[in-house]
Amino acid sequence: MSRTAERVRFFTESVIREMTRWAHHYGAINLAQGFPDFPAPEPLKAAAVQAIMADHNQYAITWGSPRLRAAIAEKYARFYGMAVDPERHITVCCGATECMIATLLALLNPGDEVIVFEPFYENYGPDTWISGARPVYVPLRPPEWTFDPDELARAFSPRTRALILNTPHNPTGHVFPEAELRIIADLCQRHDAYVITDEIYEHIVYDGRRHIPIATLPGMWERTVTISGMSKSYAVTGWRIGWCIAPEDLTNAIRKVHDFLTVGAPAPLQEAGAVALEFPMDYYEQMRRDYERRRRLLVEALEELGFEVWWPQGAYYVMTDFRPFGFDDDTAFAMHLVREIGVAVVPGSSFYARPERGRTQVRFAFCKREETLQQAVARLRRLRNR
Ligand code: PLP
Repeated sequence: MSRTAERVRFFTESVIREMTRWAHHYGAINLAQGFPDFPAPEPLKAAAVQAIMADHNQYAITWGSPRLRAAIAEKYARFYGMAVDPERHITVCCGATECMIATLLALLNPGDEVIVFEPFYENYGPDTWISGARPVYVPLRPPEWTFDPDELARAFSPRTRALILNTPHNPTGHVFPEAELRIIADLCQRHDAYVITDEIYEHIVYDGRRHIPIATLPGMWERTVTISGMSKSYAVTGWRIGWCIAPEDLTNAIRKVHDFLTVGAPAPLQEAGAVALEFPMDYYEQMRRDYERRRRLLVEALEELGFEVWWPQGAYYVMTDFRPFGFDDDTAFAMHLVREIGVAVVPGSSFYARPERGRTQVRFAFCKREETLQQAVARLRRLRNR
């Protein structure tokens, strides 16, 4: 008999975070895990120091400090015209990561099915299994990484309880346009399913695209949990601040789970978070321009080196096919890159439930300083000269 629970047999440890450990081990440049190597905004750091000195050092209110919840509500009104009540609709958690598991635990019953687009951010699989539910995968296909509406329709069954959406999408960079969101919304309404939408990359979109929260589509507020957080928009992945926005009945259930999972997110960082959420529009425009430059630098270089690349429409990753280099196994190729070339990436198969679908792909992250990306490209040039 196994000494551990059945549920942990359904998944492995995170490959993304494992690649970070290999990057440390081999002294490689880490283009695997999605965290910035540039500084967080000065006013935000100052606000955190100030919050600690002002003794915001004890448990915050479980579902989030009043100041941060007010700032979140104000920002959703400003950006998306959403009427979010800080008292009834917001739960602040330890990152979008806790938001997702708390939401699934709050909404799913054993035996429920959850539709997940594949490839997917690797947490969604374990999150679903831990909640006792079963993921049902629907492929996104290159070059646009769109889904086939008929295939999506066929994935719904009487057991479907929820669909997990992620836009802008990790790892493909797909930004779901309104037409696709309407198809998803229509199916979820017809089958009475929730949409749990991870919008952590909401401010990182390219080529004039617009991020649309699915909760703003007609009839969707009542069945949507919108998840986002501070990690990516303000370059503070270590702060662990995220939030769920949902109708009152769902929020009450999420708050209960969150309370017993973690009690609350870090109190001083919640106070400081409110300062970030009040940043003016210029901040986001500058961030977008900076990411456009990083994207061009890395993706053009990868293309020139001979990778097949799919230009991301949003987020800060690029999926590539490495077959031109004579490899046919993603893990072998990623290990070669980290060990011999000095660049860490993520093997494509870790984003697929059916690993063979990602066997010839690796994902690069470009949330790094331009010097870091240039150094990585210089190292990758050695690939060509093998
Ligand atoms: N959701 C997606 C799609 C991500 O890519 C990541 C991090 O890479 C997260 C959530 C984690 O967010 P947080 O740091 O807020 O837990």
